Amino acid sequence: MARLLITGGAGFIGSHTCVVLLEAGHELLVLDDFSNSSPVALDRVQELSGRSLQGIEGDVRDAAVLEQLFANAASAGAPIEAVIHFAGLKAVVESVVDPLHYWDVNVSGTRALLSAMETHGCRSLVFSSTSTVYGEPDSFPLTETTPTDPIHPYAQTKLAVEQMLSALASTGDWRVASLRYFNPVGAHPSGRIGEDPLGIPNNLFPFITQIAAGRLEKLRVFGDDYPTPDGTGIRDYLHVMDLAEAHAAAVDHLLQSDAPLSLTLNLGTGQGLSVLDVVHGFEAATGITIPYEVVERRPGDVPKLEACPKQAANVLGWSAKRSLADMCRDGWAWQSANPQGYREAP
Ligand code: UDP
Repeated sequence: MARLLITGGAGFIGSHTCVVLLEAGHELLVLDDFSNSSPVALDRVQELSGRSLQGIEGDVRDAAVLEQLFANAASAGAPIEAVIHFAGLKAVVESVVDPLHYWDVNVSGTRALLSAMETHGCRSLVFSSTSTVYGEPDSFPLTETTPTDPIHPYAQTKLAVEQMLSALASTGDWRVASLRYFNPVGAHPSGRIGEDPLGIPNNLFPFITQIAAGRLEKLRVFGDDYPTPDGTGIRDYLHVMDLAEAHAAAVDHLLQSDAPLSLTLNLGTGQGLSVLDVVHGFEAATGITIPYEVVERRPGDVPKLEACPKQAANVLGWSAKRSLADMCRDGWAWQSANPQGYREAP
């Protein structure tokens, strides 16, 4: 069991990962600035796991906060052994409007974290990367050696961090894993934690659950003239609990490695689903009809993203186990019990 720092641990993927890590017996420090998350998520993580964690409110770019965190842990005789780094910005359109902000938080934030880690001899890191580093691929399945071609600042910042990590790993003595997430959806089956986007969701799945909860009226399906079987875009959706378990496997793998390591792993199911597959899957799992209309394509969208997840299976012994029905049932358990997310209803 290890003492771990989780940056961005109150967010969607972070909070689910914290539950899995606490249940596995790890000790957690969670650094989050709550700019796009709620401290209530951390209360519920502790309630679900029956264990406590240490929450620290702070910005990952703040060298003084990081220094204090690592120094305090060391002087308490329980130094931080590894970091899982979720903290960052993830809205594609916002990244196009304000690229400097994205480079600052995502790239400079990671650089500040790595400096603090280096100073304190903590050299194991799991990083949240993204399948959008592949850009607009035209041959499938996507393996980790498929050429990258990030087409917006969000993906560019994620790839820049991956490159920073592999450069660091080549100096020796670091163990790093960049996990390229496909489309995480769903929630913890208890419905106590889940995805809680600020404002109107950009992403398909929370948009659907908010329609079901009566917060939104109708889904706009962005294009039905893509070169896919039903014409709507295909993505590789995976259950957030599967993704959380992949992080636990990745950090264990790094901590058990005797040698320096630099890993890049796709995390998906390998089974692409269209927008209409997800709509109909949600309807079948919940009995709720999702009204929709087909509108123009959304600028920047690609027809298809689908992982080859074999490398993660080979290296970590991990593969996604949960079905679309599980994703829909659990996502709805969260949204129906928390129609306003972590906020109190007005
Ligand atoms: N999508 C849609 N309506 C929405 C949101 C998304 O039709 O309101 C489609 C989108 O065009 C894409 C898929 O759903 O084909 C997944 O979009 P999402 O934003 O969730 O993920 P990403 O595009 O970042 O993979």
